[in-house]
Amino acid sequence: HQRERLYDYLNDRLSSRQPAPAKLIVLAGPTAVGKGTVANHIRENHPDVLLSVSATTRAPRPGEEEGVSYFFVDDSEFDRMVEEGELLEWATVHNAHRYGTPRGPVEAALAAGSSVLLEIDIQGARSVRRAMPEARLVFLQPPSWEELVRRLVGRGTESASEQARRLETAKVELASVDEFDYQVVNGNVGEAAQEVVDLMKTRKAKR
Ligand code: 5GP
Repeated sequence: HQRERLYDYLNDRLSSRQPAPAKLIVLAGPTAVGKGTVANHIRENHPDVLLSVSATTRAPRPGEEEGVSYFFVDDSEFDRMVEEGELLEWATVHNAHRYGTPRGPVEAALAAGSSVLLEIDIQGARSVRRAMPEARLVFLQPPSWEELVRRLVGRGTESASEQARRLETAKVELASVDEFDYQVVNGNVGEAAQEVVDLMKTRKAKR
């Protein structure tokens, strides 16, 4: 009897406990919504947050630095990382290249009590949810569909046919918002970045 009462008491204590502040935040959202820009803003203004550096099989763009923007690897190296379980998640993005989150630095930072931000695509966000259910998933929304189109066309990094294909993907991606814990509208980069950082620091339960 006494033992049962003790168990009841402990169960009550555990279930009423506040959830801990989020340590692992996943920032995802449709193509061209500005995930990279928001992540860079956080990198520059919140040095206490570790921004995970992904491995990718795509070629570096002008100005991108090895180990800062990405770890640029070839297909066989990516295969090796997958086989050896070095990636927390990975996905083929836009039917083109593979991208993945190295597991080691994320686990080390979390073990040290730091906050970690992953800026990855929606398939990756789903994988992280399965691998680490305690992660908080943030969906970055464009202020409007028209604005998303304007950003994609305006950055001019894709051909017209590639733009059309990405917009089709974006429609599907926008429909996955309900799988996420939070939504942040990216109207102003600084404000969106601050909202994401604030989400990391709250003890609020998941929505
Ligand atoms: P970009 O080639 O423009 O740098 O990135 C293309 C897409 O890949 C973006 O949507 C970005 O969020 C996604 N991405 C970057 N790193 C990762 C990763 O490690 N895992 C997954 N699943 N997606 C990633």
